Amino acid sequence: MAETAALERELQARRDELRARIAQLAKPAERGAELGFGKRIGDGTTEAVSRLTDIGVGGSLEVSEARVTRALAKLAEGSYGRCDMCGEPIAPARLAAAPDSILCIGCAQRAV
Ligand SMILES: [Zn+2]
Repeated sequence: MAETAALERELQARRDELRARIAQLAKPAERGAELGFGKRIGDGTTEAVSRLTDIGVGGSLEVSEARVTRALAKLAEGSYGRCDMCGEPIAPARLAAAPDSILCIGCAQRAV
């Protein structure tokens, strides 16, 4: 299936991008050194909020990375396009919109 190779490349590119972003976020924050350097209180608050947001993003990036990795494994084992939980086919429209889908819509909603 020629489509599989293209899909695999797309998923691998996506995984590489996610890993690069995770690595970037995991770097030790050097912002701490800037704190207290003539900044107003408001700036500090913004800083704290954006750091919290980064942590949140980091978590979901890791979840996304794990999902893309699983989708690639499914491609390799031939179960791609089938739900990991119930084994039913995943709707083609869902796969087209999110090629890293590993659950059908019903299971994805129950899994939340
Ligand atoms: Zn399912």
